[in-house]
Amino acid sequence: MQEFQFKPFHEMTESDYATVGFKSGLEIHQQLLTSKKLFCRCPAGQYSDEYDAEILRHMRPTLSELGEYDGTALMEFKTKKEIIYRIHRNTVCTYEMDDTPPFQINEEALDIALGIGMMYGCDVIDEMHIARKQYLDGSIPTGFQRTSIICLNGRIPYKGREVKVVQLSIEEDSCREVSDIGHQRVYLTDRLGMPLIETVTGPDMRTPHEVAEVAQLCRWMARSTGKVRTGMGAAREDVNVSVTGGTRIEIKGVPRIPHIPLLTYNEAMRQWNLLRLRDELNKRGIRPETFKATTENVTRLLRKTRFLPVQHALETGMTVHCVALRGYRGLLRWSTQTDTFFSKEISDRVRVIACLTTLPNLIHSDNPSESLATAEWQSVKKAVSASDDDTLVLVWGSQQDADMGVKEIIIRAKEATIGIPSETRQALRDGTNGFERILPGADRMYPDTDLPPKRITEERREKIRTGLPQDYWTRDFEYRSIGVPDDLIRPLTVSRFATLFGILVNEWKISPTLAAVVLIQFPKRLKRETQNAGTVTEDLVRRIFLAYKNNKITRDAIYRTMRKAVQFESFSEESLPGPCSREELVAVVRGSMTLLSKMKVRHEEKKGEILMGMVLEKLRGRVEGAVVAEYIAQEMK
Ligand SMILES: [Zn+2]
Repeated sequence: MQEFQFKPFHEMTESDYATVGFKSGLEIHQQLLTSKKLFCRCPAGQYSDEYDAEILRHMRPTLSELGEYDGTALMEFKTKKEIIYRIHRNTVCTYEMDDTPPFQINEEALDIALGIGMMYGCDVIDEMHIARKQYLDGSIPTGFQRTSIICLNGRIPYKGREVKVVQLSIEEDSCREVSDIGHQRVYLTDRLGMPLIETVTGPDMRTPHEVAEVAQLCRWMARSTGKVRTGMGAAREDVNVSVTGGTRIEIKGVPRIPHIPLLTYNEAMRQWNLLRLRDELNKRGIRPETFKATTENVTRLLRKTRFLPVQHALETGMTVHCVALRGYRGLLRWSTQTDTFFSKEISDRVRVIACLTTLPNLIHSDNPSESLATAEWQSVKKAVSASDDDTLVLVWGSQQDADMGVKEIIIRAKEATIGIPSETRQALRDGTNGFERILPGADRMYPDTDLPPKRITEERREKIRTGLPQDYWTRDFEYRSIGVPDDLIRPLTVSRFATLFGILVNEWKISPTLAAVVLIQFPKRLKRETQNAGTVTEDLVRRIFLAYKNNKITRDAIYRTMRKAVQFESFSEESLPGPCSREELVAVVRGSMTLLSKMKVRHEEKKGEILMGMVLEKLRGRVEGAVVAEYIAQEMK
């Protein structure tokens, strides 16, 4: 079945992705623009690395109602992490630290969330039930996140089809991670509890590029309300990927949408290559029931090694263990992602679960020359009675960590005989991804006993519905039909100025192109030139257009006027010099001609151009360039 081999990223075609059965869906987390947090009255969006106090916690798994431990919970317990929270008095109260019950939900946040759900054409639920979603990595001090599904069954029009919006939830944001080294993980708590929506799409995207495009559509969609946060970390994507015969794998925390195509390509390739690896193992007669591994403490055999990582480990009293994977020869060099091999899958597990975070945390005999001396490999091989068909993996650490490392090596190697383990993975900067944690069980949600169900009345829905901006896909259609330039259509459909655009074009009869350029391109240009384009408000743009409509400024002067207004943080139509009269133009042109006649001009034919520049410089946007050109031409004759 796995005949197909992945090509380099840029050579993959749509039909290649169809061959491997690429499927992907998104979970988009978007912070809402509110002044307060979701279940307490602490301020939202006040970030600082400073803190007044630290709190230490240990996470412990509890039995679920079915009497089972959750896989993730157990994994987190195995890591024996100390979790440290850094708290600042201004951004955290006793609620976030689980010392007082929640306040009622932030109604403003709920309105925004419902509005976005409605724009996706979702059904809004009648009664909201708040649930607790278990999180045991420490990112939420209580061990759970309060979350509630509020909308279901929406859609995103895309490429003539529809991507399903499965559900939309409102929930609390988690802590920001500062560091995760060895057995200690540190978090900042300022972001904790901020309102967030999670939009879940169906697995309807068929190529990596489609995933990125749909993520972008969702982001624009949310932004078009003007009520969501923007900037670093305000919107974060989790991406699910699977291929035929594979497992649905979740890549967590993709920081930027442009990273999505390469990341999802790499994940699809990883799954495909793990399936091929399984076939290779099966061909060698290695299946879950025939899998064999032996282990041995080889510390004393390596006492004189010159391989530095092991040498250092031994100096600090660490233990070295060897695992012999029977029949695995060469397979740790089996390619999984771009420049990444099966050994990385094992090393990741050892790093995350045994907390052996200093790399390299293991070495193996499929890459013998890069580590131990040949004689050392020979003696280790003898100690575990390995044959030439086997692969040796060495791991080192404290007795406890090294033991845990051995267990994880065996678990991960054995999983290769089954296929692709269920886990969540972390997006890495180079476009590949790494193991994050075992996939949480389905029963990680349970009802919240602190908050009663909440009805969402028809009246409330109606009020939200009437205040909603137009769908961006409806706008898209309109803008095309009135001739907005192609490159401005997309940004305009989701712009906070979209409503104003409608007024300018339909009521004030401004040309669609001019309006679009001023609303979309000018603020961007200002941002590049002046840093503080944030102050381009709707009111300012409206007043500048009014000045233009009343002939107080020319079309050419709009940008300059806008820049001045932003720089000086003020704008009044009275302070504008007003348009230039014919008499003034005549005077300025004549004056400039006199000046020019006294200048030495090497190229006679350039005189007109120079004169034009002089006049425009003097009149600074108070007259259209075309008018000046025409008058000069006449005058020069
Ligand atoms: Zn609080």
